[in-house]
Amino acid sequence: MKKKVAVIGAGISGITTAVLLQQNGFEVSVYTNEHPLKEIKNPYFGSQFPSASIIPHSVFHPDINEIFKLSQLFFSKLYEISFSGLTKHEHYELFAFEKSIDDYPNLINGYEALPDLKWHPKHPDIAIKSGWKFNCFFADWTDYFPQLIRIFLQNNGTFIYGTVDLNSYASINEDIVINCSGLGSAQLIDEESKPLILKGHLLKINNTVDLKSPNGNTVSYNFSAGPDIYADSFGTPLDVYCYPRKHDWILGGSRFKGTLDNQGNWVSEDELSQQFPPQIESLNSEIIKETFGIEISEFREKEYQYSYRYVRNKKNGLRIESENAPDRLIIHNYGHGGAGVTLSWGCAFSVLQMISEKSGILNTDITPEQALISLADGLTNL
Ligand SMILES: Cc1cc2nc3c(=O)[nH]c(=O)nc-3n(C[C@H](O)[C@H](O)[C@H](O)COP(=O)(O)OP(=O)(O)OC[C@H]3O[C@@H](n4cnc5c(N)ncnc54)[C@H](O)[C@@H]3O)c2cc1C
Repeated sequence: MKKKVAVIGAGISGITTAVLLQQNGFEVSVYTNEHPLKEIKNPYFGSQFPSASIIPHSVFHPDINEIFKLSQLFFSKLYEISFSGLTKHEHYELFAFEKSIDDYPNLINGYEALPDLKWHPKHPDIAIKSGWKFNCFFADWTDYFPQLIRIFLQNNGTFIYGTVDLNSYASINEDIVINCSGLGSAQLIDEESKPLILKGHLLKINNTVDLKSPNGNTVSYNFSAGPDIYADSFGTPLDVYCYPRKHDWILGGSRFKGTLDNQGNWVSEDELSQQFPPQIESLNSEIIKETFGIEISEFREKEYQYSYRYVRNKKNGLRIESENAPDRLIIHNYGHGGAGVTLSWGCAFSVLQMISEKSGILNTDITPEQALISLADGLTNL
């Protein structure tokens, strides 16, 4: 008989974990208080909003590079088998000031930095002083997430609707419980500090065209115009971005710091966090006009949105660890900040490894290579 697992949460962390566990012989039920594809979106449910670049932005963990590398292995395999909605862009990260390079660009295929770049998106008036490009995976959310959910259901996965609280958590029947409840974890678990949240604003522009580089590749970018032009109330520079998808563009971004009060209301000392930042539209319009000769005003159908990235706090960051409960194995997988999609497969694999080590259910230690092969076989044979 298949061993049963309960996953709490139907976001990208929960569904990815569920699919990987199914491919490795588990029967999985996902407990959730909301359907992930619900039409009216809830800003507390991050997976209804991600721009879905596969880049580890706004997330903290001591082993972040390892988890990111692992996740990229899975995305590469999914790309090889043409998984629905998974695309690759020529992606640029550009700055109007000197910026030292982060760890992650070097971990991504096709990395090149200024001054060696032959071409990059441009702003008509703001000079670019530093930056780099790489070949970045993107998950086009309109296709990718529904496909993952279909796979979960086709593999006999079930959704169990309702809010899990600290009491009902204990009465879940399964011997293995994986907590992927995102921001819900701040309520579900006694965390010491108030949750650190980065509020993000998005502008979705519908029925757009593709943006191409001179090489004919789809282009996306993040651009930091400097603290005088776009920053939070405390002067920290923010970036804007444009990520083209099959039918629309997602323009962002903001990363305003704040938390939630006991009623779940947004609380922030940053007054700018209350409104949609006009720079998201203006800077992107100027770059797109200058680089691609396209007027954003040509496209009339627009949706202004916001949602919350749950960072926990900088010290503890992402929580991917098991808990010693007397009667069962509990594994936590939450606090992915701005990188829940990016880290989804790396974290799912860590969960699988923990189950293998702690429960003795799997006969041998599972390697990433084995998990990749069984995933690709399982998905191709559906
Ligand atoms: C504007 C914006 C842009 C972003 N862009 C990117 C990006 O480009 N790339 C990237 O990798 N990431 C991005 N992110 C981050 C990403 O969206 C999140 O990290 C990710 O969605 C978190 O997924 P999750 O499954 O961990 O949590 P969630 O998506 O929040 O899912 C939590 C689930 O748990 C359920 N739940 C919660 N509490 C309970 C409870 N008590 N009982 C039962 N069910 C419960 C919820 O209903 C939901 O199903 C972005 C986020 C924002 C806000």
